[in-house]
Amino acid sequence: MKYYFDNSATTRLDDEVLNEMLPYYTEYYGNASSIYKLGQKSKNKIESVRNKIAEILNTKSNEIYFTSGGSESNNLAIKGIMHANIFKGKHLITSSIEHPSVLNTCKSLEEEGFEVTYLAVDEKGIINLESLKKSIRKDTILVSVMLANNEIGTIEPIKEISNICHQNGVIFHTDAVQAIGNIKLDIKELGIDSLSLSSHKFYGPKGIGALYVRSGIKFKPLIDGGHQEREMRAGTENVPSIVGMGKALELVYSNLDDKNKYIKGLRDYFEENIKKLPNVIINGDLNNRLSSISNITIKGVDSNTLVIGLDMRDVAISNGSACQSGSALPSHVLKAIGIREDYLKSTVRISFGKYNTKEEVDYLIKSLKEVGKC
Ligand SMILES: *Cc1c(COP(=O)(O)O)cnc(C)c1O
Repeated sequence: MKYYFDNSATTRLDDEVLNEMLPYYTEYYGNASSIYKLGQKSKNKIESVRNKIAEILNTKSNEIYFTSGGSESNNLAIKGIMHANIFKGKHLITSSIEHPSVLNTCKSLEEEGFEVTYLAVDEKGIINLESLKKSIRKDTILVSVMLANNEIGTIEPIKEISNICHQNGVIFHTDAVQAIGNIKLDIKELGIDSLSLSSHKFYGPKGIGALYVRSGIKFKPLIDGGHQEREMRAGTENVPSIVGMGKALELVYSNLDDKNKYIKGLRDYFEENIKKLPNVIINGDLNNRLSSISNITIKGVDSNTLVIGLDMRDVAISNGSACQSGSALPSHVLKAIGIREDYLKSTVRISFGKYNTKEEVDYLIKSLKEVGKC
């Protein structure tokens, strides 16, 4: 893709990451459970990546579990924690703007008999801390609120949420998939008990992610099988992808401030140019969001028409979020922040990444004006 502006859906793999991964397909292909040297080579590499990830996020390495990605991590955390703590209660709290991998996990738990409170958000996409406090019951086990939203980029008040949870003896999980690689984050400092991340959102391979769970918190595995991942996630480890994720995380956090400044520069330049147009509105919390995301409404223009028209010009953007496209339903996030009914189908997400250039953004602006007739 020539003009790729859908970096919140996924990112291009970094060449450095690929080079690091390749030997683990063809040379060091041993099963980490095998006791001979080739197997132990894999085992040792997995553990060194685990240590590196733990160090970057300020956790202990025995609190990191490798999974197949963000969706699995959210399922494992939420179902796993609820099932393991069922003796204590059956209530959990989440927000109404979570990713489908959280919302549908909650739905599935409701079908099993668990009870879920869905917190509303304000027009910026932020949950209300007073409502959170009021929602906590004696039988509340878990609160799951995302760190940053994937459609509008809003960053939630994580520290305040974790404080409220801990004052009430409730476990706090956060879906940090969209945030990791975009903002600095210290898990211990923020008081997070459980956190999901996914490699393909920060220039790593797809189909690999991790779950952090604070030691001492009980959860149950989703997959029964071998003893991998300290019995919490069975299945032969995806060594090349684990290696790739470790490298990608290291790279993204090695120059995060510079990279963020660059990406924010592109995003702000884009918004400066389009906000003057009479039929354009920028959605979300303009002061408190990821620097990579711009969510805009172009009044009177159907978002699918826009996405397809831009695709014909080799520009990739998203109508809402990738997870919503293909379905005719308007985005639950836009609805939750109170976007007018007639604007819901005229809203698109543009997400910037480190491979974008200012020239590309100029072409994006020009194409948007042409297709959106603005
Ligand atoms: C992409 C995304 C996920 C899903 O991660 P996968 O690795 O694609 O399963 C979950 N939550 C958020 C906020 C995301 O942006």
